[in-house]
Amino acid sequence: MGPPGVGKGTQAVRLVGTLGAPHISTGDILREAVKGGTDLGGKVRSFLEAGKLVPDDLMGGLILDRLAQNDAGSGFILDGFPRTLEQVHLLDRVLENLGAGLDGAFILAAPEGEIVRRLTGRRVCPGCNAVFHLDSKAPEAPGVCDDCGSALVQRPDDTEAVIRDRLAVYEEQTRPVAEAYRERGQLVEVDGLGDPDEITARLEDSLKEIRA
Ligand code: AMP
Repeated sequence: MGPPGVGKGTQAVRLVGTLGAPHISTGDILREAVKGGTDLGGKVRSFLEAGKLVPDDLMGGLILDRLAQNDAGSGFILDGFPRTLEQVHLLDRVLENLGAGLDGAFILAAPEGEIVRRLTGRRVCPGCNAVFHLDSKAPEAPGVCDDCGSALVQRPDDTEAVIRDRLAVYEEQTRPVAEAYRERGQLVEVDGLGDPDEITARLEDSLKEIRA
């Protein structure tokens, strides 16, 4: 968890190796659906472009299907879900059906100015979902993905006006999710400022603690 641009996706990908569990990003799944022109894609496109949350009834089916897939059988790293209190309940029900539990809910924090800087400079690869930054993680050849050679793009929701809306949506709808996990004693707060390696090390230390 954490506000848009705080580094959830970047860090989740880095934990795949440590945990041996797949990275499940609801944002990536939704963007793929839009790109692929599926039914779901048609229904969610306008929400993504406006930086608004996709309705919970659509998210319920999506998470149920994804967590039931084989690769999620021995664990998963959820990125970007749950984002509303209703989704917390949805996840509880799905986990109960799967006979699975949640080890912890990690929340990354960073000041708003830093978040806006990170998001406006973010460039993503539509081919392989790799993420770059104009200042702090520039690709070797400008505008070209280091990993697969596709042309990098700016996400339509990474413009300053939409970023402000996404931050407002986060405060209003997702902040209470963090509080719900805090009340359950499952919230793990991690400083999202600094070098990505340092942040990964902090996450790994916290993971060791909760798994000890
Ligand atoms: P992200 O890549 O996590 O920043 O998500 C990008 C966009 O996908 C969000 O601004 C929402 O429009 C949508 N989205 C991703 N996850 C969820 C979710 N759990 N509930 C509702 N909408 C979501």
